[in-house]
Amino acid sequence: MPSGRTHDRITLWTLPFVAGVTFWQTRSSNVTLLVAGGFMFGGLMFGPDLDIYSRQYQRWGFLRWIWLPYQKSLRHRSFLSHGPIIGTTLRVIYLSCLLAIASFISLVIVEKLGNTAFNWQDLGKNVERSLVGYGTECLALFIGLEIGAMSHSLSDWGGSAYKRVQKKGIHGLIGTSKAKKRKVSSSSPRTKPKPSRKPKL
Ligand SMILES: [Zn+2]
Repeated sequence: MPSGRTHDRITLWTLPFVAGVTFWQTRSSNVTLLVAGGFMFGGLMFGPDLDIYSRQYQRWGFLRWIWLPYQKSLRHRSFLSHGPIIGTTLRVIYLSCLLAIASFISLVIVEKLGNTAFNWQDLGKNVERSLVGYGTECLALFIGLEIGAMSHSLSDWGGSAYKRVQKKGIHGLIGTSKAKKRKVSSSSPRTKPKPSRKPKL
């Protein structure tokens, strides 16, 4: 599996490609910005490796603890974090729930401190309306996040496959049982050190 730095490089190097293809297909700078932004965020901070102590996790800074329950409940590289669509969907739901809880708590505090009363129903309707009204934008962002996460998962799997092939040849990919590591005996006779050449006189 590639290191965090390799993953970052892959994300940054493929960014122009993702942005270019999106713009070519949509002709919309807004959508392109959202897809590219989602791709960056998905690749650098919001990717599958949030299920382990990783660069993505560290980038959340003082907020990184919010991912601890996520890490605790998922095995590293499990289908629920690294799988297509499901990984990003679960992370979006997870983060949205946390954001909802946090905004609910802060609104209650503001209500209590400021002695004001919110119309919670109106608030809910507003949120719903903006989600529906910005459906295309939300979808573009999600697609960006998903491509970012997939570039990660693909390079994880590609990297492992490549290592297997390097170690065991093409059999490593097919997974034949013959491909067990054979121990190379360490006592194999080494070539004798050449006697130092006598200086010509
Ligand atoms: Zn990974």
